[in-house]
Amino acid sequence: MDEKTRLIHARRRPGPLARTVGPPIQRGSTVLLPNAAALYGEALGYGRAGLEAQFALMDALNELEGGIGAQLYPSGLAAVTGAMLAVLKAGDHLLVADSVYRPTRQFCERFLGRYGVEVDFYDPLLGAEALMALTRPNSRLVVLESPGSLTFDMQDAPAIARAARARGVLTLMDNTWGAGLLFKPLAHGIDISVQALTKYVCGHSDLFMGCAIAADPKIAALLKDGVHQLGWSVAAEAAYETLKGLRTLAVRLDRHGQSGLAVARWLAQQPEVTEVLHPALPGARGHDLWARDYSGACGLFGLTLQPAPKAAVDAFLDALKLFGLGFSWGGFESLAIGSDHQMGIRQFAPSLAGPLIRLHIGLEAVPDLIADLRGGLDAFAAAR
Ligand SMILES: *Cc1c(COP(=O)(O)O)cnc(C)c1O
Repeated sequence: MDEKTRLIHARRRPGPLARTVGPPIQRGSTVLLPNAAALYGEALGYGRAGLEAQFALMDALNELEGGIGAQLYPSGLAAVTGAMLAVLKAGDHLLVADSVYRPTRQFCERFLGRYGVEVDFYDPLLGAEALMALTRPNSRLVVLESPGSLTFDMQDAPAIARAARARGVLTLMDNTWGAGLLFKPLAHGIDISVQALTKYVCGHSDLFMGCAIAADPKIAALLKDGVHQLGWSVAAEAAYETLKGLRTLAVRLDRHGQSGLAVARWLAQQPEVTEVLHPALPGARGHDLWARDYSGACGLFGLTLQPAPKAAVDAFLDALKLFGLGFSWGGFESLAIGSDHQMGIRQFAPSLAGPLIRLHIGLEAVPDLIADLRGGLDAFAAAR
């Protein structure tokens, strides 16, 4: 045969793969089938649905979430929007917590409306019965996020799940803060648990991945069909890296949680700080629900400063040396953002005593982080 042909077909015939600790990273769009009959048979026929590394991650996520048929998406936001599109149709009514992740809100406002889905935002502090009073005959889905983005409002997820199910309304919870470990949505009756694995599961601020999962086979089938119809696919390398993060999630999260609480306790005693928004802190808003439902905390929380002009808040942020200024969270490093800029779109924002800051506490030593924050607060006080 011609060299051109030989170069294309020369290959080592794969034998049984050596068994490594992690799954093999198989790269393939085309899956070669054994014979003509198999082309349209039951066997996996195309790589978009995933290969070994993606399947290994799905299995581990089923284990983490206590569900079946975990679906992967190329980002956390894609998981939220993909899961919604999988269960909603034109004419449906959707209820969304006012404290959801801002891009989730924008998807509901700007995108779902074009497809004939009616959206209402609700106060995340509403009890289950008051929330059910907002449902209509065409209500299909209630979206929860707890603790909510930026303000860390705690929702009574088990009560909402029970009340919604009694009315035949589905529930979807964005459980990124709980990282699949600290709170178990499916065990508390939520129909669809969604997570931005980008955050704690990946853990290194270098990768996007999302998942959605259900316990009910019918809902799991809808999620799977949605991924198939919309054409989502994730790379084997990304799935491998995510699984690698999942293996150490419990120890990292434990450290993030303990360090976060230590910093939160210290902040609560500083004169420049008016409130710490951390549900695991005794006396904080939402603490009772957190204590009832959660097995721990992550490293993400909020705080308000004394009333001050934006320049003083910027002076606080700019004086920080260990805390990077940047979005996202869940990596090994500490981060800070000012949140006031994002609060304007809220309909039911809690009343806050001053400018709102969000901190992510990384894996650095707590005394170093505290010293850095003290420097920031000094700069804030000087600029106020
Ligand atoms: C970051 C985040 C998302 C989106 O995740 P990406 O992977 O960045 O798309 C969704 N929900 C919450 C609560 C988040 O914090």
